[in-house]
Amino acid sequence: MSSRLAFTLTTATAPWTEGDRISLPAHILESLGTNAHDDEASRVLTFNVMFPSTGQSLACGVKDFAADADVVLAPAWILSALGAADGDTVEVRIVDLPKATAVKLRATDLTYLELPDIRAVLESALRDHFTCINRGMPLRVRAFLPGEHVMATCSFVVADLTPRVNACTVINTDVEVDLAPLEADPVKLHAMHAEWKRHRADLAPKPLPTTAGQHHRVTLDPGQAASFAVEMKAVPETHGVVRVAAEVGEGDCNLYAHPLLRASLQDNTALDVTVGSKAVEMDVAPARAADAAQVFVTIEVDGDAPCVVDLVWTSSEASSDPSSGAANGSDAMAVDDEPDEGPYGHTKCPTCQKWISAGAYPLHQIHCARNTVACSTCGAVLLRTRAKDHWHCPEPRCTFVALHPGEPDKHLRFWHTPTACSGCDATFSNAAGTLQTHRRAHCPARIIYCRYCHTYAPAGPSDDGLSAADRLAGLTSAHEAACAARTVDCRTCGRPVARRDVAVHMQLHAAAKRNQPKPLTLCRNWVCGRPVVGTPAPGAICLTCFAPFYSSRAASPREEAAALVRKRVQRYFQQATVGCGHAWCGNKYCCSSPKFEWTDLDATGKAIQCMQLAKAAPVDGMWLCVASQRIQDRRSMAQDLAAAHGWDVEWCLEALIKTEQDDETDASDDDDDAGGANDDRQDVQAQVRWMSRAVDWLLKLAPPPKAAS
Ligand SMILES: [Zn+2]
Ligand SMILES: [Zn+2]
Ligand SMILES: [Zn+2]
Ligand SMILES: [Zn+2]
Ligand SMILES: [Zn+2]
Ligand SMILES: [Zn+2]
Ligand SMILES: [Zn+2]
Ligand SMILES: [Zn+2]
Repeated sequence: MSSRLAFTLTTATAPWTEGDRISLPAHILESLGTNAHDDEASRVLTFNVMFPSTGQSLACGVKDFAADADVVLAPAWILSALGAADGDTVEVRIVDLPKATAVKLRATDLTYLELPDIRAVLESALRDHFTCINRGMPLRVRAFLPGEHVMATCSFVVADLTPRVNACTVINTDVEVDLAPLEADPVKLHAMHAEWKRHRADLAPKPLPTTAGQHHRVTLDPGQAASFAVEMKAVPETHGVVRVAAEVGEGDCNLYAHPLLRASLQDNTALDVTVGSKAVEMDVAPARAADAAQVFVTIEVDGDAPCVVDLVWTSSEASSDPSSGAANGSDAMAVDDEPDEGPYGHTKCPTCQKWISAGAYPLHQIHCARNTVACSTCGAVLLRTRAKDHWHCPEPRCTFVALHPGEPDKHLRFWHTPTACSGCDATFSNAAGTLQTHRRAHCPARIIYCRYCHTYAPAGPSDDGLSAADRLAGLTSAHEAACAARTVDCRTCGRPVARRDVAVHMQLHAAAKRNQPKPLTLCRNWVCGRPVVGTPAPGAICLTCFAPFYSSRAASPREEAAALVRKRVQRYFQQATVGCGHAWCGNKYCCSSPKFEWTDLDATGKAIQCMQLAKAAPVDGMWLCVASQRIQDRRSMAQDLAAAHGWDVEWCLEALIKTEQDDETDASDDDDDAGGANDDRQDVQAQVRWMSRAVDWLLKLAPPPKAAS
């Protein structure tokens, strides 16, 4: 396991130059004695690379085992950290490293000050790109500068590690990232940073007029570029496309658009690199998804002359016809669709295809032959004065025809000149076509807005890390796929849920919540706040309410029913004439209650009413005083809540029962009427607090309320 092998070190090129992963030849596994045991297969392999000439070594991860025999491919920063150059010999061995728990980084420039949350950026950079972290190693992370809408590189060195060793792994572990104090002269560093910021401020996008269609004149010197922003609040909600036209007055420029970033040749979703006035259209949906305030265009002077250009933005619901802008052969004089039948007495000129009257024909022929020339490639007849601008691209399979001065040069530069990707160093056959395809969809360094961590981040390699499910879910970047797969604990059930599944998971919870059966059965005594537990007593009231009516004497069902009605009448009559004695009683048929409704009736009148109430009991429910004010309040509060917010009374009562607090609980809760001790405490504030606890409970656990009445 500790054997070392010597390899030739080679700088890796795109697309994995970020991070610490190296590519090794396949034979290293057998040579170093790593038999892929079952438990080893899942282990993260870490290697120590040592450069004997300097004695420097670094622990790093492995990207693949695809390198040529005896060669190690490593990102350029690893070579420089080792003090080695291409072709040097390094020694490689497998190492077992402890997991890092904390890392302290020291900034070597102050770009990080521009970031709202540097810790999150560092943590995600470590997670996404690194296997190991070495004490003293340089760490460069790319991060989005929100003020300028560009990515920038922040540089750090690893100042300290916990545990206190020289190298740790950062795989499958949460690393706490902290910043160490600056080492270089802070005054100097801050002065440099201020200078850097001033320079960057010039580059920050300037706002275009907030009125669509208004011209904004820009004058730029050769070599200059300027970025502009269209305020999203000026774009109607229903409009999905912003079009920016550049009406070129003098000189020439290129035009780039991007809905999230400061646009450039490398970062754009639309570009126009033709000669003369031009326009780009961008889909602004990504800006809306990212809740971005602006979308961006950049004009870049092309050529040696200053450029004067009027920028105008407009918006529309959908993209306009893409072919409308293409000017094709309009200057060529050949007209194919002219009818073969000319006017009477006219002859068609074989040179310019025009119909000429017989009288004018001889002269026309001489004139025509002198002033026009046919293109030897396409046969188009051209005015001699314009013929030099008619140019066919000589590249194989390219059908481009230039019609204006300057077009051939620009066409060759943008379509037939190999161009490197600024993000990953890979080279593409041209800047306007293949590079754009790569930058927009494939480059691991392209910037995406992650819908899960709500930040701009490099997309990561698009060819791996994306499952079929990811693609189905509309994920297009390894970064988003990794974020989507990370789990969060569901706040409702506490179970871990992948972020991509959270929406569906929450819908399931919502459906389950909506379809819950009612939590309890209400006592049919309108004054009682107890649920009915078990089989309801006759009249569907709770056992406590039924207790006074209970008879142990066995009788026929008919006799029993008659006795029950009799007892109800007696009870009602007693309530109406003697009362329960509680001043807080809320029973409108109890004479102790301030709500008593029969104050105008004499004893006979009350007796008649009592009989009617007793008879109606099976349908209308009952009105029986309860011994506990709290039990009574619970019912009236539940009814108030239900009326005010639309929840079922059952759910409101359940909420009040569940959120009742001990210190407020009435001691006489379950006392029966005869032995009731009263607590007349009237704590309105406590009741308000109780209500709001119940509302919280309902919002969390009860089915959503119906519209409040
Ligand atoms: Zn002619
Ligand atoms: Zn031609
Ligand atoms: Zn061409
Ligand atoms: Zn790239
Ligand atoms: Zn993310
Ligand atoms: Zn859940
Ligand atoms: Zn009851
Ligand atoms: Zn009463």
